[in-house]
Amino acid sequence: MASDFSLAGYIVRRARLVGGSVLENGNPFFAPLDRLQADARSHGTVLTSFANYDYLGISDHSAIKNAAHAALDRVGVGALGSRLVGGERLIHADFESALAKFVGSEAALTLVSGYLTNLTTISSLLGKRDLILYDELSHNSIMAGVQSCKADAVEFRHNDMEYLRHVLQTQRAEHRNCLIVVESLYSMDGDIANLPELLKLKDEFNAWLLVDEAHSIGVLGKSGRGICEHFGEDPKRIDLIIGTLSKTFVSCGGFICGQKVILDWLKYLLPGFVYSVGLPPVIAAAAGAALQVIEDEPSRVGKLQDNAQRFLIKAREAGLSTGPAEGYAIVPVMFPDMKSTMAASDYLMQRGIYAPPIVQVGVPKGLPRIRFFISARHSFEEIDRTIEALKAFSAGLAKTPVPPEPVPA
Ligand code: PMP
Repeated sequence: MASDFSLAGYIVRRARLVGGSVLENGNPFFAPLDRLQADARSHGTVLTSFANYDYLGISDHSAIKNAAHAALDRVGVGALGSRLVGGERLIHADFESALAKFVGSEAALTLVSGYLTNLTTISSLLGKRDLILYDELSHNSIMAGVQSCKADAVEFRHNDMEYLRHVLQTQRAEHRNCLIVVESLYSMDGDIANLPELLKLKDEFNAWLLVDEAHSIGVLGKSGRGICEHFGEDPKRIDLIIGTLSKTFVSCGGFICGQKVILDWLKYLLPGFVYSVGLPPVIAAAAGAALQVIEDEPSRVGKLQDNAQRFLIKAREAGLSTGPAEGYAIVPVMFPDMKSTMAASDYLMQRGIYAPPIVQVGVPKGLPRIRFFISARHSFEEIDRTIEALKAFSAGLAKTPVPPEPVPA
C-alpha cells in the first residue's frame, strides 16, 4: 500500500496518537451554547451550564453591554495596529490603571490573549544559564512558554513545597536568574497554590515569582482581588501576576501586573505585545465595565464562594470523588474512565445540565473528569439537583458490571 504523505493523512495520524479516539465514542465537544439554551427554552426549561468561566454571573450585565456599545460607536472594534505604533487608544491606559489598582500592583499591561501572555512572558524573560521552576499541573500556556525558553527548566511535583525547596537548594546556585511559576487556583483540580510558602522560598533563594491568576481574580479573597487577598499577602511581593480577561471579566485578552518600571520596559521588549495587535478597544471597554461591576457589586463574590463551597460539600457527602478541590469556583468530579465520564456528561445533558467531559489532552490519560465551573449565577436548587443527578448516575455505574479487559491476541 502506498504511504500517505498528505498533510491531511499526517494530521489524522497525529490526532489519533494524542487521543482522537475520544471522538469515536460520540462527540460531546463544540456544542453551541446558544443552541443548547434555545433547545432548553423550547422545552420550557432553562439550561444550567457549568461549562463557562462567567464566575460572577455578569456576562449579560447591562453595564457591560452598554460600555461595549458606547466604545464601538466611539472608536470601533479593533485597535488597528500594535500599540507601539498606531494601536494605542485612551481606553487602554484607563483600563490598565483601574486593573492595577484592583489587583494591588503598581501597573498593568494588557495583551490580546491570556494564552499568549503566559507564552510570551515566560519564553522571552529568561535565557541561557537561567533556571525556571514550574508546577507540574501548570496550564498548557505556561508549558508552551517553558518549552520555548532557553533557560534550564525543572518541573516540581504539584504544590509540593518541600520538593521545590530541594530543587532550589540543589540547583539555584549554579544559575544566574531563577523564576518560579505557579497558578493560583488550579484550572483542572481547583486547589490553591501555597502562596505564603512560595513567597518565603522566593526571598530565601533570591528567585522571582510569577503567579497565573487566570481563575482567581474575582474568585479568591473577600472582594475577589485574588490569591493575595485570600492569604492576606501584599501583591507587590509577587514579581509578575498574570491574568486573563476571558474569565471573571467575561471578555477576552490577557494581562500582566507588576512594578511600573518592569512593565514600562516590557512594552518595548515583549514579543507578544510588540508584534501583536493591541487589545480591541471594544473589549477593553467591556472588561473595564466588568471590573467596575465587580467593585460595585461585591456580594457576587460572596455568592460565588457560597455556591462553590456548597457544591463541594454536597459532592463529598454524595460520595463523589472531587480530588484536591478546595471549593472555589472549580470543582472536578472524577470518573473511573473516559467512557463513564462521557456517559455522565451525557446523562446530565439529558437533564438540562451542561457540563462537558474533560478527557486526555486536557488532563492526564488516567484522570478523566467533569470540571464544574461554579458561578454566582447558580441557585442552590441547581447545585443540589446537579449533585443528585451525579449521585444517581454513579449509583447506576456501581451496579454495571465492568467488562473484562480484552486479552491481547
Ligand atoms: N492560564 C490558565 C490557568 C488558564 O486556565 C487559561 C485558559 N483557560 C489561560 C491561562 C489562557 O487564558 P485565555 O483562555 O484567556 O487565553
